[in-house]
Amino acid sequence: MNKKTHFFATLIMVAATAAVLVYANIRHDYAIIILSTYVITISLFMLIYSIVKLFQRKTTVETGDIAGVTENLNTEIVLWTDDCSAVFMNKCLRNALGITDDSFDSKEILKKIFNVSDMDEKTIQKIINGELGESTFHNAYGGKTCISWSTSLFKENSKSKLYLSAGFNLTEIKKMQTSLRSSNDCFMMSMELSEIGVMISRSQNRYYASPQLVRMLGLKSSSVKFSDFRALVHPNDRIQYDSCLKLLETSGSVSNEVQQLEMRIKSADGTYRWYSYRFKIVKISGNSFPVLGGAFLDITQEREKDMLIERLAYIDDVTEIANRNKLVKTGEETYKCCRMLNYSYWVIVLDIDRFHIVNDTCGYDNGNVLLRDFAHLLYKYISPGGLAARISGDNFALVLRDYGDEELPIRTVSAIQDDILKLANNNFSSIKLSCSAGYSKMPGDGNSFLDVLEHAEFALKSSSEYQGSITAYEPSMHDSIIGNTELEKELSDAIDNNELQLFYQPKINLADGKIMGVEALVRWIKPDGTIMKPDAFVPIAESSHLIGRISQFVLNEACRQNMLWQKMGYPNIVMSINFASSDFYQKDLKDNVFEALVKSGLQPQWLEVELTETLALRDIDFAVSQMNSLRSLGVKLAMDDFGTGYSSLSYIQILPITLLKLDRSFITDIERDNIAYEIVSAVIRIAKSKKIEIIAEGIENGRQAEILRKAGCDFGQGYLYGKPMPAEELQKFFEKNAKERSVY
Ligand code: C2E
Ligand code: MG
Ligand code: MG
Repeated sequence: MNKKTHFFATLIMVAATAAVLVYANIRHDYAIIILSTYVITISLFMLIYSIVKLFQRKTTVETGDIAGVTENLNTEIVLWTDDCSAVFMNKCLRNALGITDDSFDSKEILKKIFNVSDMDEKTIQKIINGELGESTFHNAYGGKTCISWSTSLFKENSKSKLYLSAGFNLTEIKKMQTSLRSSNDCFMMSMELSEIGVMISRSQNRYYASPQLVRMLGLKSSSVKFSDFRALVHPNDRIQYDSCLKLLETSGSVSNEVQQLEMRIKSADGTYRWYSYRFKIVKISGNSFPVLGGAFLDITQEREKDMLIERLAYIDDVTEIANRNKLVKTGEETYKCCRMLNYSYWVIVLDIDRFHIVNDTCGYDNGNVLLRDFAHLLYKYISPGGLAARISGDNFALVLRDYGDEELPIRTVSAIQDDILKLANNNFSSIKLSCSAGYSKMPGDGNSFLDVLEHAEFALKSSSEYQGSITAYEPSMHDSIIGNTELEKELSDAIDNNELQLFYQPKINLADGKIMGVEALVRWIKPDGTIMKPDAFVPIAESSHLIGRISQFVLNEACRQNMLWQKMGYPNIVMSINFASSDFYQKDLKDNVFEALVKSGLQPQWLEVELTETLALRDIDFAVSQMNSLRSLGVKLAMDDFGTGYSSLSYIQILPITLLKLDRSFITDIERDNIAYEIVSAVIRIAKSKKIEIIAEGIENGRQAEILRKAGCDFGQGYLYGKPMPAEELQKFFEKNAKERSVY
């Protein structure tokens, strides 16, 4: 019963009782008068109480304004007092509760809508503070209504407080959540059942990992930091993984294309397993950053099978490291990553110096041992993402990540050169091992990995003259090689067309002025009669295979000519020939010289080989052994250009030479420069003490010849006596010399 009804009922009761009292007074019925007086007294009390109640409502609550405003709002509104009387509920809430009139128990209603068991002070405080959270109650439509209430003090006076609670209806959202949860459950179940691990970026530095992925990789939780995941990727595969992250950073890379990587990831058992990683980057509406979603499938077993096949295709049999195919394949992939990520790598090509000597002198098995040991020592220098491979024969490649240290290639090769010395074992301890290298940088030094590799090989070749050389690729090298290629072709044709000819320069005995020998100096006589001096073409021939053909010609021709002169009756003289480094270090040097002597019929003592200091010092041990084998044939050995190279007199004692040729630079200065004279005479003295003969080259005047003769120099060569000349001219020289010296 509401308060109004209560008031009117009480009023009617008072009025009725009063009428009974009046009637009883008229009838003087005292029993009814007494009874009516009691009833009227009680009714009056009740009436006063009702009036007070009505009065109270009137004085504490003035809801007309808020009721008007909120009545038709599509959200639940209730105004209630701190004594739990619901004074106003808008239509939206009334409908939800199924209230059609004023006959309701406001306290019960409040308990229902706030979903509390009692509306005590503590609970009221919780409601006001918004601590109750969402409340759910059965609505008039047979379902449940879920509301999140927000309550504030609306009005207050000394007697009462009026609160306004506004509801945020969550019923539909809850329904959606429930259905989402069930579809998410289905998704999670399929994730659980599938063997695929899924990872989705949920922010700019964290992934969500599916339960299967958590299991596969032994992750601590399903929320994984990018950096923690990267640490699990095999160091050699990180560059690929980084390129995938790079795509994520570049918002322009969002595409519908699914991409794929294969990489090794540290797994739950602590070992690296192979995974196929299929990923896609998408832009999700409402997300400021693109989302990377990826699926991982363990392909270790397949990979192991592939590896067996790959081993056959990509592993070098002898050294068991990557072969050229693998180098090129991996190199091309790395090249792409370099372009994408602005990384750079060094490509170093190494060559074991004089490897053929190990093969020839120690046998192929020992050669193979050396190749294997060398390959394995390269491994020490590989950084993550790098590679070591055998390209061919004794050529290897190292691919090293560049971190901006320009000295890295030189330092690495130097360290390898130190290491290779330690590889000498009982079988090749006498051979001083070393290696040379050429290097280039990827991607800057070429348009593809093959380009960069070729350039490193160019750099190596361009310095192959020097053992232990370390040469950086420079684009200018390329130009000179292109230029040289044309010249090489021309020179090759010249050899075929017999355009090479030997000129002979006489060597004179300073004591009696007699010709004692000639030096054969090669000339290229072009069809138009131009005479090319050796300086113009020998260096090019030396950097290609052509020098071998030239030297073969010089050796045979010099022996043939000397023998011919002997047969013609000219005095026996020593024929000197010059050897390039590559000729001298040929394993079949002795055989070649012997063959030329046999073919021509020349006695070995009439042939002399001139070697420069620089050439001999390139590999002193081997030079000594080559020189000894020539000496064993009976051939003479001269040290050419003495004084221009490293010029240590101690080499005179080590090298089995028979003649020392003082360089022209000393002779030019000998007249004016006392120091030059002192040096020359000291060298002559020491050489004599070692029973080595001395010849001075570049004598251009009589004064020089006289000084040298007096200093004890045995022989002289120079324009004073004769320039290099063709054979026929030299024959005339013979005759003139003979006449002047009256020797025959
Ligand atoms: P080299 O063996 O020191 O030869 C001596 C060079 O000095 C010759 O130059 C010769 O013409 C020059 N010469 C001799 N006397 C005098 C002189 O009084 N004054 C001046 N200014 N120069 C003099 P050429 O023939 O041009 O040879 C230059 C170099 O080419 C040779 O130096 C040798 O190292 C190399 N060469 C010559 N022929 C051959 C060859 O058949 N094979 C190889 N591998 N190298 C050769
Ligand atoms: Mg010479
Ligand atoms: Mg010389």
